[in-house]
Amino acid sequence: MTETSIECFLTPKDSLNLFSGIQIPDGQEITIGRGQQYGIKDLACSKQQLMLEADSTDRVLKVRRIGRNPSILAGFPLEQDQVYFAKEGMTLKVSPEVEYIVTFREINNSKKLKMQSDSSDSMKCECKSSNFTWSKNPTGTVLCCETSDFNFVYPCKIASFDLDGTLISTKSGKVFPTSETDWKLWHPSIIEHLKKLVDDGYSLIMFTNQAQLEVLSQYRINLFKNKIESIVNALDVPFLVLIATNRDIFRKPAPGMWDYCLSKISGKLDKDSSFYVGDAAGRIAKKPKKSADFEITDRLFARNIGIKFYTPEEYFLKESPLEFKDVNFHPYEFTVKEYPSLNIPANPSELIIMVGCPASGKSYFTEKVLVPEGYTRVSRDELKTWPKCREKIINAILRKQNVIYDATNPDKVTRKIVLDLCKEQKFANVRSFVMSTSEDRCIHNNRFRQLVKNSEPVPHTAIVTFFKRFEEPSVEEGFTSVVKVPFVPNFPNPDHERLYKMYLLGKKK
Ligand SMILES: [Mg+2]
Repeated sequence: MTETSIECFLTPKDSLNLFSGIQIPDGQEITIGRGQQYGIKDLACSKQQLMLEADSTDRVLKVRRIGRNPSILAGFPLEQDQVYFAKEGMTLKVSPEVEYIVTFREINNSKKLKMQSDSSDSMKCECKSSNFTWSKNPTGTVLCCETSDFNFVYPCKIASFDLDGTLISTKSGKVFPTSETDWKLWHPSIIEHLKKLVDDGYSLIMFTNQAQLEVLSQYRINLFKNKIESIVNALDVPFLVLIATNRDIFRKPAPGMWDYCLSKISGKLDKDSSFYVGDAAGRIAKKPKKSADFEITDRLFARNIGIKFYTPEEYFLKESPLEFKDVNFHPYEFTVKEYPSLNIPANPSELIIMVGCPASGKSYFTEKVLVPEGYTRVSRDELKTWPKCREKIINAILRKQNVIYDATNPDKVTRKIVLDLCKEQKFANVRSFVMSTSEDRCIHNNRFRQLVKNSEPVPHTAIVTFFKRFEEPSVEEGFTSVVKVPFVPNFPNPDHERLYKMYLLGKKK
């Protein structure tokens, strides 16, 4: 009889062969880094970059960064000498150019003896849950904890709270807790406030972002659950706790957790009486000892869902509101509804060189507007290399077709290559179409696409770099004219439109 075992692999991101890449032995630490052994050439990778150990029983890969260069797991920068847990399907970016998917595959192996991991991290920590019901939402990315005495009271007035920095702070005084027991109530008067709210007929909800749970072991997740239970026990009131464990639509300031909460309500919601309290409010440091808020997530979350917002100081201590720095970008502010006249020539042929940032709406415009007008689209993203694009452009010009070259083309140097080709081919009809989408809107669009398509976003740096390199195209460069193309949103349904008009990112800018 053939024995099988589960083996862990780091599969190169673009590889279709699931057994290619680096095989990680089970229950045994190995070090990977730049060098011949693993074929990693990226100079931004240390020779000893990551220490890895697979646990095929739980299908997790233990990751510790030992090199001084950065590595990223599932979007999280790894701190040096900290242990993280990569689950199946997660992306491990060892260095900027070296990216793997963590995979576990069943292989035939009659000789292999399975090693049992005795690591404490694979031990199961039992939650004491007699007073609490734990569940997950349908996507599995929101953890819900409900006390046995929690019920929505109708008409439903929701008093909702952030966790860290609002209901609790660290005992150690550090910004991030040092362990699951490093917490204390933010202020002793909180319990009294919450009891009064319950007496006044409020339903108490906690909305907290805890995306780090995605890369923690089950053991650490259970410790976190115990922490939540201890906090709610200390608060001593009925509570529904919603925890966003991913970077999806449930992560504040996106409205997913609120919408999920509303889906549990079966009666009337009193929105006017409902409110949300959070410490990420964009406040500017006023007093010498007070630091500014790093984020404005909580204020934007309340704004998105349309309920009143208070900081913990305002709500629990009745302090006056402090000055805050609002975001500069408001996603709902756009006036353009249609593309301008494009003056498409009656007689081909012409070449249009697109200029536009990733997520500026450039490819949508070329595909939905220009291609239906008979343009041959030459996409740098699809063909990957300039020689292939060049060949397709020349063929189209020779066949007297209108052509559109769809690439970012941020500066004169990149556009000159295409303009030189036109000179060489003695081809004079070259226009530039430049997307006028702002940097903030590109960043917003990128996040929006990630949320609705559930896809990996374009790296943030690709957008920032585009705008750093950007040089406005001009007729002096050799174009017959330059046409500005606005971003025109297109929504397949009202839900997309509602979400698009909301704040989706929580950092101050
Ligand atoms: Mg907070």
